[in-house]
Formats: sequence, structure tokens, C-alpha cells
Amino acid sequence: MTTATLTIDLDAIAANWRRLDRLTGPDVQTAAVVKADAYGLGITRVARALALAGARRFFVAYAEEGAALRQALGEGPQISVLSGHMSGDTEMIHDLDLTPMLNSLEQITRHLEALPGHAFGVQLDTGMNRLGVEMLEWQAVAPILVEAGPELLMSHLACADDPDHPLNEAQLAAFLEMTEGTGLPRSLSATGGILLGPRYHFDLTRPGVGLFGGLPFEAAQPVVTLSLPVIQTREVAPGEAVGYGCTWEAETPAVIATVAAGYADGLPRTLSNIATLWDGDTPCPLVGRVSMDLITVDITHLTEVPRSLDILGPHQTVDALAEAGGTIGYEILTGLGPRYLRRYQENPA
Ligand SMILES: *Cc1c(COP(=O)(O)O)cnc(C)c1O
Repeated sequence: MTTATLTIDLDAIAANWRRLDRLTGPDVQTAAVVKADAYGLGITRVARALALAGARRFFVAYAEEGAALRQALGEGPQISVLSGHMSGDTEMIHDLDLTPMLNSLEQITRHLEALPGHAFGVQLDTGMNRLGVEMLEWQAVAPILVEAGPELLMSHLACADDPDHPLNEAQLAAFLEMTEGTGLPRSLSATGGILLGPRYHFDLTRPGVGLFGGLPFEAAQPVVTLSLPVIQTREVAPGEAVGYGCTWEAETPAVIATVAAGYADGLPRTLSNIATLWDGDTPCPLVGRVSMDLITVDITHLTEVPRSLDILGPHQTVDALAEAGGTIGYEILTGLGPRYLRRYQENPA
């Protein structure tokens, strides 16, 4: 059987990085966020393509991801860990030269005691209430800590995908208040923040989803195509139902293709009876429930049975599929399962 194939356009990822880089001034460094296996697309190949495009600094969520990334990139590029210095991570941080973004007084103490002199940054909480040192704690430790020479002060915006949200300005003001006058490099923006304009750029930006073709970066080049092989077809008579729970019933004689992927592969069950697959330029509705390994598609109107149907591609972006399933592009991307064959497209430079 042909396998379900996820095609990843590395040139498009590199082009998206360059586009985001050009949205900020020449003095602003553009990093790349490749947590969660580069948003599901494969950290090794993706990070190497980004390094070739010019990225010199990478962010991951956990130290283990940093280890995989160091393996892929070798020495040189800086690897920052957003979860900071967690207990048990000291050796990995030291041996693989990872830069933890310290999130609490506990982490600050742990880091300075375990690895004095080892590079670190500090994540500040400016209103998202998720990770980072809060205002009062920061005011207490800043005078001592700034001496220890953090190489970055960063914070993260909670509502950057909504340019009119008042929290953006509030977080910006809090970030300025916490960092002004330190003379240290600063970073506030992920993809959404880059699009909010220069006041949000500071010294370094940290785009993730925009690199992979996702909103809110509307100018992104699409990156992924997902083709699912047809395993079997059948004719269904009027009144017959398809799939678990009999949620779809043929009204006229229909041809149903059973296709190899399901919710175990990251196609949400909420796409049942809603999503569209594509045979080239021809849309084919998903009918019945999405099951664990299979989905069923109405191909009555096709003149030939296709070998495969696309669920992501030029006619349906990650965000379009996410909207159909009631989620966001990030969740579709990071849910793309390990059973797909990942095929990388890259033009030799
Ligand atoms: C995930 C993440 C990013 C990247 O966000 P995108 O919206 O994908 O660009 C940047 N900074 C932090 C702290 C993150 O958690």
C-alpha cells in the first residue's frame, strides 16, 4: 500500500523565515521556534533548512528537544529552552550548551548555584500568567540578577493574534517598565507580535507558526501537503449508512472511498461530516465519522477512483482545516501523526 504522505516544503519554510526577518529592522535578530518537533514537521530537517536560511538562534520548549536540536545542528547556533532550568536538566544544559530562559526565583537559584557562569536568559510575566518571573519578584531580584549578565530578557504576548486587543499594549507597557534601563537584549514577539509593528520588535523576535505557513502570518507560503491513499471503494444504496453511529446516509446511489488516516493521525473527530478532501482540483466531502485509522469520502462525482486524496494542500490550508474542525492551525500541525511518511522538498541551492 502507498503510505499516507506528508510533504514538507523546506524552501517555503526558509522563505517564510526570510519574509518574517524582513518585517523587522536590520538590527533585529530573527530566531526560529522549533518546539514540538518543529510544529510536527520534523525538527532535524526543518532546523537545518532554517540554519541554511540564516537562523542563528533557536527556541525549544524542553531541554530534551534542545538535545535533539543540538544533534541536528552541531555546535554554533544558540539553543534556548523556554521551560527554563528544570530539576534534572543541569547536565543536559551544560553538556549540550543550552541556554535556559529562567522562569522563577527557584529556577534562578538552581541555575546560578548549579552552573555559575553558564549563559541564561530570563522570562518575565507581563500579563499572560503562564510562565515567567512576575513584576514584584523581578523588582526584588533584578539589581542582583542583571549583574549576573542574562543574555536575554523576554516575555510572551497572550493576544498578539488580535491586534486590537488591549492586553497587547498593557503587556508592552509592563515589559518596558520591567526592562527599561537594564541595557540587556530584549524579546517580546512571536509571529503575531512581529505583525503588530516595530514597537513590539525590540532586539530579537521568536516566530514559530508563521514559519510553517500558519496564521496570523497571512503572507506565509503554504508548507504542507497531506495525501491519503484510498484503500477501498464501495457502492452504497440510498438509505444505507456509512461509518460509526450511522451519522451519514446516502440519499442517492453513492460511491464511497475509504481512506487511510484517522483521529490517531491528528485528523480531529470533529471533522466528521464536515471536512473536504481534494482529488486535484475537485472537492470531495468527508462523510460519516472520522474513525481512529480511517475516514470515508463521497467520490460519486469522480469519473475515476483516485489513488489518493489530499486533505492539506493548495486548496485547503492548515488553518482552513482547523476552522472546519473547530480548532487552530497550531493544533492541526502539531497533531500530525508519526504514521505519515514525511517527504521533504528542497531545491539544491
Ligand atoms: C510558541 C512560542 C513562540 C512562537 O509562537 P508562534 O505564535 O508560533 O510564532 C514564541 N515564544 C514563546 C514563549 C512560545 O511559547
